[in-house]
Amino acid sequence: MNYAPLLEAISFAADKHSNQRRKDHEASPYINHPITVATILASEGEVDDETLLIAAILHDTVEDTKTTFSELEYFFGIEITNVVREVTDDKDLEKQTRKDLQITHALHASPRAKQIKIADKISNIRDITNKPPADWEMERKQKYLEWSCEVVDGCRGVNPVLDKVFDDVIAKAKAVCI
Ligand code: ZN
Repeated sequence: MNYAPLLEAISFAADKHSNQRRKDHEASPYINHPITVATILASEGEVDDETLLIAAILHDTVEDTKTTFSELEYFFGIEITNVVREVTDDKDLEKQTRKDLQITHALHASPRAKQIKIADKISNIRDITNKPPADWEMERKQKYLEWSCEVVDGCRGVNPVLDKVFDDVIAKAKAVCI
């Protein structure tokens, strides 16, 4: 296996997210999240599809930094860029509209995009369970869990191993948060 493309994606994303922090009270470096999402896919979801793993590393670069799709296409090619495009919310829309659209988009997403969406929710739910954002009340956590389940329902069936990881994570989160 040629490790260079995956490592280049990690370096690219680390650079792009370098000034960002997660919402937990320790304000962890943002890059931990995309690395976690790709690791969930490879280690727990048994994914060995390089395009999918690279797209997972890059999945928040356009949504959360100034990275453009043409930049991704230049460095990583159209196939990876199109997967990232599928999992990128349109930040010009209202927050609630974006959340509603994630549910409908999930149903029609490609198999790769569906797996990133599930791994993304697994990562976020673990964060909410283990190191919640300081200002999140119980109700906000519960709403996030419910919405995540709706998104993931549209993504099931591509990777049953990953589906099972999500089910275990949501069961633990509900025990802690509800
Ligand atoms: Zn994400």
